[in-house]
Parts: sequence; structure tokens; C-alpha cells
Amino acid sequence: MPTEVDEGNPWEYNFYTKDSQIKNPDKGVRLKEEYTLLMRWMKGIQKSLEKEWRIAFNSRKKDSAYWEERSKTFSNLYESVFSEWESRWESISKNAFKQGTSLAHETFASSQVIRDFKNDSRLLNKMTLLDRPFTDPKVIDSLLRDTLGYLRYALDGAEEKTTKILRITQQTLLEDDKLNQSIAKGLIEKNTWEAAKENLQKDFEKALKDSGISDGKFIEINGRNYHLDSYAETLARTRIREAQTAGVQRYAEESGQDLVRVSDHSTLTEKCEKFEGKIFSISGGSSKYPKLEMWTPFHPNCLHVITVYIDVVSIFGYDPYNGARNSSSALSDLRREELREQVEWMENERKKPPEFVPDRSKANISQPKLNYLLTDSGKSGLFKNEFGFSENNLGELEDSIRSSLEKKVSKVLITEDGIKYIVDTPIRNPNNDNRMLTIVWIKDNKSSLPRFITARPAKKKKEGNQ
Ligand SMILES: [Zn+2]
Repeated sequence: MPTEVDEGNPWEYNFYTKDSQIKNPDKGVRLKEEYTLLMRWMKGIQKSLEKEWRIAFNSRKKDSAYWEERSKTFSNLYESVFSEWESRWESISKNAFKQGTSLAHETFASSQVIRDFKNDSRLLNKMTLLDRPFTDPKVIDSLLRDTLGYLRYALDGAEEKTTKILRITQQTLLEDDKLNQSIAKGLIEKNTWEAAKENLQKDFEKALKDSGISDGKFIEINGRNYHLDSYAETLARTRIREAQTAGVQRYAEESGQDLVRVSDHSTLTEKCEKFEGKIFSISGGSSKYPKLEMWTPFHPNCLHVITVYIDVVSIFGYDPYNGARNSSSALSDLRREELREQVEWMENERKKPPEFVPDRSKANISQPKLNYLLTDSGKSGLFKNEFGFSENNLGELEDSIRSSLEKKVSKVLITEDGIKYIVDTPIRNPNNDNRMLTIVWIKDNKSSLPRFITARPAKKKKEGNQ
């Protein structure tokens, strides 16, 4: 029989199994308030975005200054989302983390083993009884950076999409105008005009639908569109869970406990099934329990809770802690440091884009990439037929691609895989074709060298755009 539990709220961090429950003494009141305020604020932003979008769409304005202004308005809204989270999330992480330590503490305090043997040296040799919940500024800081990194990534995507769709809107209005002028001058017939207009409208509506913006959905993840506020909710819930788990994890470390247990509410989620209700060893050094491969949340919106587990056989029978602690930790010191560096690096590059591709003298262009330009069905037409490159002059192609590094970076893109540096420039080629190319370089992380990714014809700047 499935256990009825109420653990859907991110400010609650109670631990349920089929036969028992541990109530978190920290009721999460502050966390609930802060979460509710932030989500209410996000709903307001979503409304503003939709309103701005309607204004832009209904304006029928054609001058580019107007559209640049609209673009700026959206950009400012996205920036305000970032700064709002930046100012609120530290406190939310802190309260969530504290809840994790509270739950872990309660697990200790309510344990029969602890009550019976709290003065027994065999137990005290193995674990320290911490007397109260705590926070850890280092962990809180990395949770903040990490969350802001995800948010930045989503906001950049939304902004790019918005800009694209604003361009299409303006362009459609301009074309509309041209058609009207043509018919006024008698250059085209009315029925041709109507057909053209209908096509134009269809294209436009399709572009809106594809972008997901027509009904206010701005964020695209794995091909699905989300409203900004519902994306924010998923992000908040998942990250709060992570902060709570980090609290349990740190509590386990501080108290010298190696075993943890995953809650059980008869999940229907396949991903969580194999963990549910089971006991794991953090270090992997237990011969009785398997190593914990992953901390909760196991997936976005996951409701599972982990707390420390006190196993009397383990304590008095044999040592479950032999072997290195902590290499499986989702938030090991090393990983924390990495996350922090990555996010800071991305923020810096975004705020102050470099003039040229960084470390460009050491940039790498791989042989397979060059071959790809000459053999891929979409690329070979340009690089082989039109530019006149071939397998016999690969060196020349490489030099030409490399020479783009002498040009200034026109755009910096923050992506999940690293930072992309875009250079728009023509390149030298046997047929002296001087068309503009968009050449993409990537750095996976701060210390890696830039790599050539791809080159394609630069998109033509349309009439009326900057
Ligand atoms: Zn789950």
C-alpha cells in the first residue's frame, strides 16, 4: 500500500519511509516565506514579459529605433531577474542548508542507538554527537554560484530568442509595407498581393509558434518551451533540495557518519526507484552497503530526501568507514571549487567580453573538423565548390581559419558546454570569394585552450536592423 505523504513543498524536509517518519524540527518558515516571495515576484516578471510582448506586437511600428528600445526593455527585465535572484538566493540556500543539518540532527537525537549508547566509548569513537544545526559559508557560496550559473544560462537563451523574434516581427511589418506600396503603384495585382500577404502572415505565425513566445513561453530546454516563472519554480525547488541535501552531507562529515538512507514514498519515477528506501555508504568503504553514487535530487523536482543512518551492527560489529571518504560526494571540495571557478569565469567573460579569442596563439584546429568542412553535405558546397579548398590544400584551409583569430570577437555566448567566441570575418581562399563567415571557437573551461568548432556563412543583416 502506498504511503500517503505530504512532502511536495520545498520548504519541508521531513523524512518518510513506509514504516516510520522523522519530522524536521526546523519547520522551514523563513524558507517558505522567501520562496513564496521570490516565486510571486517571478510571476510578476512573467506578466511583464507577456505585456511587453503584446505592446511590441501590436505597435505596428517599423522604425528600428523602436525595436532596439523594445529589445532593451526585455534585456532589462532579464537582468532584473538575475539581480533579484542574486540578492535573495544566498539566504534561501542558507535556510535550506540549515534544514538539512536539522533533519540529520533529529535523526541522531531520535535514534534508539544514540539514546541507549550515548556514553559508550565504542559509539563515541566512531561518531561525534554535534549539538546543533549549523551553516557552512563555503558550501552556501558555491550553491549560490551554481544556481546563478544555471539561471544565467537560461536567461541568455531567452534573451537571444526574444531578440530573434523581435527581428522577425519588425521584418514582417516592413515586408507588409512594401507589398502595400507595390500594389498602390500598380506593380502587383491584388490577388498576388493577397496570396503574398497570407504567406507572410503564415510565416510569421509559424515563427512565433516555433519560438514558443506567442503564449509567453521564453525558455527552451531540450526542445521544450517553458514560461520563465515555471522554469524558475523548477530551478528553485531543485536547488533548495540540493542545499538541504548538502546540509545532511556536511552534517554526516562533521559527525563522522558514513551511512545514509533514502526516503520512500513508493515513487513512480523510474530514476528514483533503485534508490528508494535503501541504505548507502558515502565513502563506499562499507562491506555491507553499496556506495552512494548520487545525492538527491535525483532529477528536477525530485521529492526524495536523504538523511544519515545509524546502523548498530555497523557500529559495534565492524568498521564501515574504512577506505577513503568522500570521493563520491556530489559536493566534494574539489567539485565545489570547480563549479565556483566555472561560474565566475562565465560571468566575467559575459560582463567584460574579451577583444580577441583568449589564448588565440594556442588555439586548436583538429584535422577531423577540417575534413568535416570539406565532406559534410551542408558545408562542402561552400568550402569546396565555392571557396576552392580541397583535401590537397588542407594546410591552406587551416591557415585561413586560423587567420580569423586576428579579428575581433563579435559575440560571446555562454553555453552549457563552455564559452563560445564568435568571429565574423571573410577568410582567404583560392577563389578569392570575400563573403562574410561566422567562425565559432569554444573554450570548455577557464584553463582549457580554445578549439575551432565550425564556420558558416554569416547571416545577412536585414534592412532596418542595426
Ligand atoms: Zn525522486
